[in-house]
Amino acid sequence: MKYIEMIVGSFAAFLTFLAFSGYNILPIVFLIVLISSVYLFSGKAMTKGKNFVLSSKTINQNISFEDIGGQETAKNELSEALDFVKNSDEMKSLGIRPLKGILLNGPPGTGKTLLAKAAAQYTDSVFLSASGSEFVEMYVGVGAKRIRELFAQAKQSAKKQKKLSAVIFIDEMEVLGGKRGNNSHQEHEQTLNELLVQMDGISSNEEVKILIIAATNRVDMLDSALLRPGRFDRLVKVDLPDKKGRVHILKLHMKNKPISDDVSIEKIAKDSFGFSGAQLESVTNEAAIMAMRDGSKEINSDHFHNAIEKVMMGEKLDRVPNMEEKKRIAIHESGHALIGELMFPNSVASVNVASRSNALGYVRQTQQDDIYLYTHEYLKSRISVALAGVIAEEIILKSRSTGGSSDFKHASEMAKQIIYSGMSDLGIISSEDIPKDQVHNMISKILREIENETKEVLCKKKSYLEKMTELLLDKETLSGDEIRILINNQDSSQCA
Ligand code: ADP
Repeated sequence: MKYIEMIVGSFAAFLTFLAFSGYNILPIVFLIVLISSVYLFSGKAMTKGKNFVLSSKTINQNISFEDIGGQETAKNELSEALDFVKNSDEMKSLGIRPLKGILLNGPPGTGKTLLAKAAAQYTDSVFLSASGSEFVEMYVGVGAKRIRELFAQAKQSAKKQKKLSAVIFIDEMEVLGGKRGNNSHQEHEQTLNELLVQMDGISSNEEVKILIIAATNRVDMLDSALLRPGRFDRLVKVDLPDKKGRVHILKLHMKNKPISDDVSIEKIAKDSFGFSGAQLESVTNEAAIMAMRDGSKEINSDHFHNAIEKVMMGEKLDRVPNMEEKKRIAIHESGHALIGELMFPNSVASVNVASRSNALGYVRQTQQDDIYLYTHEYLKSRISVALAGVIAEEIILKSRSTGGSSDFKHASEMAKQIIYSGMSDLGIISSEDIPKDQVHNMISKILREIENETKEVLCKKKSYLEKMTELLLDKETLSGDEIRILINNQDSSQCA
């Protein structure tokens, strides 16, 4: 850098000297401006290219399949596929074509990156990672160049580290590998074509064998050429963990933390239904932070309880709604909690009216077991729980509020599930061919019926609602047990 500055400085001095000596330096200045702008223009792309090479890190973190909780099916499928890479000589003798690509499909935070790292460790390969968005550029040819650089770097790193194979992990594959078509940009097409060319060039005779592991949550968006045999040959589904998986993940992330004896991992796993691995990691971390704030040497069950609420609903806010609003929120949440407990006994874990970033108030319900199939009755009961908040407002305050809009959205989604599963009065239907207004009318009918039924139930339990609201306004949070005691001891009084 210093030399460049010295050269530029001397050249400027030389030009000044020429100017003073009476030479016309304008053509030279013009030429310099022209050359520098061309250099800067292409340099911008080049610099990005260089950055990219740096950002596609070669990581030697030792992550093995044992460090990944749950995901047993994904791990089995992946290691089975990787055995092809490990036993490549045997494969070659049988004339089996090399495995070039594995596509991991699943929601964010489920451990796809970890699986790719474990795959590199399992096959004793170097590991390079890049994200699909790093290849997206305006200038035609830049993305393709980066793909070539990535493959070249993989080979170089493997040779340097004396390894026989390299795993290239590409996250957000849908960005790089989206469908080509009328609307796609020429740059995008070139980049994707280059990836296909590079993948086609992978052969078992190469000195360094390359395996591409890509991750996406949108397989439907990928160009069909990528999914053709010989490219991404294996599709491995990486789902949200079930309860057993959650227990495993929690245990892994609790390993290095002092956990109090009152903590039940089973209970935390039950309470964190629907959480991804990343969210579970966050729960253990938040719980540890809360213990530190409390000055406690160990992380106890209260810390975990609060950490789950924080990860689910966001940070507690200082924002305090006015008394009238707070009362409405308490009534709304009492409605959800009451119907929730009546429809699914022992399911309510807590009711809160302390505002968090994602909600003004909320009810946390847990499930005894993970459910994979929903019955008609189950969906109807869930809709009833969703509608109960606004209905409670109407029963006690004689008016509704906007607090129910997300509940309605949720309820409509579930009504759609009833319709598309052939459980509505429309019978079995084809979701593509049925007119939209027919679906809309059926959604309205389902919701109206459930709304009336829920109103009837809540009316009969009005005094429960009133008592729960009073307690909530006083304590801000009620546990599931407190709600169950209230329901069992309170005499019901009907709507006027
Ligand atoms: P993805 O690539 O699917 O978005 P990552 O693999 O990057 O998810 O996971 C992010 C973080 O979440 C990991 O570093 C790890 O701490 C945690 N995590 C996610 N899934 C698991 C799992 N199955 N087991 C253990 N930790 C997990």
